[in-house]
Amino acid sequence: MKVLVTGAAGFIGRAVCEKLLDKGGVDVVAVDNLNDYYAVELKHARLATLQSRPGFAFHRLDIADWDGLEALFAAERVDYVIHLAAQAGVRYSIQNPHAYAQSNLTGFTNVLEACRRHPVKHLVYASSSSVYGQNAKVPFSEDDRVDAPVSFYAATKKANEVMAHSYAHLYALPTTGLRFFTVYGPWGRPDMAPWLFTEAILKGETIKVFNHGKMQRDFTYIDDIVEGVLRVMEHVPQGADGQPPYRLFNIGNHNPVELMKFIRATEAACGREAVKDYYPMQDGDVPVTYADTARLRAAVGFSPDTPLADGMQRFVAWYRGYHGV
Ligand code: NAD
Repeated sequence: MKVLVTGAAGFIGRAVCEKLLDKGGVDVVAVDNLNDYYAVELKHARLATLQSRPGFAFHRLDIADWDGLEALFAAERVDYVIHLAAQAGVRYSIQNPHAYAQSNLTGFTNVLEACRRHPVKHLVYASSSSVYGQNAKVPFSEDDRVDAPVSFYAATKKANEVMAHSYAHLYALPTTGLRFFTVYGPWGRPDMAPWLFTEAILKGETIKVFNHGKMQRDFTYIDDIVEGVLRVMEHVPQGADGQPPYRLFNIGNHNPVELMKFIRATEAACGREAVKDYYPMQDGDVPVTYADTARLRAAVGFSPDTPLADGMQRFVAWYRGYHGV
């Protein structure tokens, strides 16, 4: 089996590649442009954990480069595509919309078109809990109507879902969109709260607590995300009853946690108290995220459930080892 993973030097991409290689009998074609949205050394360090493994091949490529992507698909003839490359981050999207248009709209168009021309069994791609917006009822269900994104990032992720629908409808391309909910764990992202808070607490610096600590997030541990992604990959939508082979799943912990509780879990894992500064809610943010995971569980017999305290212990242990602190 050959699987193409885009965004392979990213947080979730690295972990997905590692698990695919662990399964055995899988060749992984890994793609990333190694952009500098955050520390490039971290992306190189993630890749270094994979590069010596048999069956792993890395290609530095921008998915917005149609000719490059097309040539790679033509050469590799992959069975499955797990598309994780994107410009991520809610707040950054408000200042830098063009980066999102380039990777998340042009890049996504290229991935869809390459999958059509070089037929793959299944395209699995990252969407986001942010598509639910501000006023969604909780828990968030895939059946809810979502058409009011409050950040440009969320708008591009919602756009990906409707773009995938058109390819499933027009060309019977099997696609599954995964709405990830705040993912954390070893090799995580330096722009996200688990990393930022851990870094500040260990250095004795002040942490920024937005919305006065009142927001809630459905923090989801990386190993659970990877398990979900791989089970979904092999569960190809069939498009029965005249419907296109198009599907969406929430992948979240189904257990939203208040920010102050999250900070206490981080303090416990670090063995120190945080110095806190309180701020109002930021543009583009939503007060709560909360995944209904019934559809995922019914389809693949699994949904995330790692307790936050355990996951944060593992993240902080990794963080200390990585930085030698
Ligand atoms: P990440 O930024 O760590 O990984 C994305 C990777 O894609 C990076 O290594 C980046 O260099 C690469 N990339 C970006 N644009 C590219 C392009 N044009 N061509 C080639 N490579 C490109 O982010 P992540 O947390 O691993 O997220 C993976 C996916 O999941 C993204 O689509 C993201 O939007 C989505 N997502 C993540 C979370 C989360 O909490 N981490 C939540 C919801 C959705």
